[in-house]
Amino acid sequence: MSSLGDLYQEVILDHNKRPRNFHEVPGANRRAEGHNPLCGDRLTVTLDVEDGVIREVGFLGSGCAISKASASMMTDSVKGKSVEEAERIFEAFHAMVTGKQENGFDPEDLGKLAVFEGVREFPVRVKCASLAWHTLRAALESSVAQVTTEID
Ligand code: ZN
Repeated sequence: MSSLGDLYQEVILDHNKRPRNFHEVPGANRRAEGHNPLCGDRLTVTLDVEDGVIREVGFLGSGCAISKASASMMTDSVKGKSVEEAERIFEAFHAMVTGKQENGFDPEDLGKLAVFEGVREFPVRVKCASLAWHTLRAALESSVAQVTTEID
């Protein structure tokens, strides 16, 4: 097994066992739910966005190790970033896992997220790895009104 393979396993197992930001953000003003029917992964992403910056981000849900580890690492990656930066990371991540890298993204942008590069060989796993990111994007586009109905 290659060292990247080992790293992939190690990082994913760690995030699956001890997911970061595994909670609902108190007073969240963005929320979305994501579902990957191919695998049964379900995630809810909540965010507190102020002045175009992601102040807080959390997720809850259940699913396979890859979907959970990816969600955990997604929250780590976008916390404290501007919405534009988060969009850029989304694009780079999506390009990486789908193998569509013609836009010339910089792998450096991805940092640790590069451990998910191997999933491109497994189309079902691509859905698992990208679920959290699609849910993040949906949450960023969600309206505050939608969330307030949830809170009350
Ligand atoms: Zn899955």
